[in-house]
Amino acid sequence: AAKEAGRNTYQYYSQDVLAGIQRRLQIEHALHGALEREEFQLVYQPLVNVDGTRPPAIEALLRWVCPELGPCSPAEFIPVAEKCGEITRIGEWVLNEACRQAAAWHAAGLMFERIAVNVSAMQLRERGFAEQVIAICERHRWPPHRLELELTESALIRDSDALRQCFDTFERNGVLLAVDDFGTGFSNLHYLNRFPVQRLKIDRSFVQRMLHDAGTAEVTQAIVHLGHALGMQVVAEGVETRQEEAMLLRQGCDEIQGYLYSRPLPSRDMAQWLRRCDEGDGPGPQAPTQAD
Ligand code: C2E
Ligand code: MG
Ligand code: MG
Ligand code: MG
Repeated sequence: AAKEAGRNTYQYYSQDVLAGIQRRLQIEHALHGALEREEFQLVYQPLVNVDGTRPPAIEALLRWVCPELGPCSPAEFIPVAEKCGEITRIGEWVLNEACRQAAAWHAAGLMFERIAVNVSAMQLRERGFAEQVIAICERHRWPPHRLELELTESALIRDSDALRQCFDTFERNGVLLAVDDFGTGFSNLHYLNRFPVQRLKIDRSFVQRMLHDAGTAEVTQAIVHLGHALGMQVVAEGVETRQEEAMLLRQGCDEIQGYLYSRPLPSRDMAQWLRRCDEGDGPGPQAPTQAD
C-alpha cells in the first residue's frame, strides 16, 4: 500500500510539474508580440516620506492583461520573460514609459521626488544598459537624479567589470539605486559597500510578520540600523495598517509604501492622488480602492 501511495504521490507531483511547465509555455507564447499589441500598462504606487519634508516618490509597476490568459501577475510572467529573453525589450518599454509619464506629470505641475522602476538582473547584465537608461532620460528630459532603479540582491552578487562600469555611469549621472526585497536574498552584504546604493527596501514579508513575531521586528530594526550606518535611506514596502506604520516609524524607517497610503493606481488616479496630496496637508491613509 505504501508503495502504491508513493506511486500516486509521484503521479500527482509529475502532474503538477507538467501543469506548471504548460502554463509557462502558454505565457511564453503569449508574451511573444505582446509589446507590439500594446498589452502592457504601468500602474503607480506612492512611497511616502514620513517626516513630511519631501514630496512622495512613485514606483512604477508593470501590468499585463493577456487576451487569452487574462490578467497575469508580474511575479508570474517576469521570470518567464527573463528565461526567454523577452525581458530586455519589455524592460526598455517600462523605463521609457515610466520616464515619459513622470516628465508629463512634472510638466503638469504635479509634485513628486522621483520615479522608481524595477530592473531585472538580466537587463543589468545587458551590454550598453547604463547608456540606454541615460538616453531614455534625455529623450524625455527627465533628470537622471530623479530616476531610481530597484534591483534585487541577486542582481548585485555577481560582480564584474561590466557591472562596475554600469554603476559608474549611473553614479556619474546621478541615477539612484535601491535594493528591493532586502533581506530575502540570503547573500553576503559585500555588495552594499561596493556599489553606489542609496536605499534599502525592507521586503513585505518582514512587515507582514513584524507585529506578531518579535524576532522579525528585530530584523527590520537591524535593517534600518544597517542602512543608516551605511548612509542609506530605508523604505518599508507592503505596509497595510497604522500599527505596522507606527512600529516602522519608531524603528526609524524613512519611507512607507503600501496599501495603507495607496494601492498601485492607473496613471489618471495617481495624478489625482498627487494633486490631493499637494493641496491637502500631506498624504494621509486612504480607503482601499478597487484598482490594482
Ligand atoms: P516589488 O517591486 O517588490 O513590488 C511590490 C509588490 O507588492 C507589488 O506587486 C505591489 O503591488 C505589492 N504591494 C504593494 N503594497 C502592498 C501592500 O500593502 N500589501 C500587499 N499585499 N501587496 C502590496 P506587483 O505589482 O504584483 O509586483 C510584483 C513584483 O513583480 C515586484 O515586486 C517586482 O519584483 C516585479 N515587477 C513589477 N513590475 C516590474 C517591472 O516593470 N520590471 C521588473 N523587472 N519587475 C517588475
Ligand atoms: Mg520594486
Ligand atoms: Mg519590493
Ligand atoms: Mg517585494
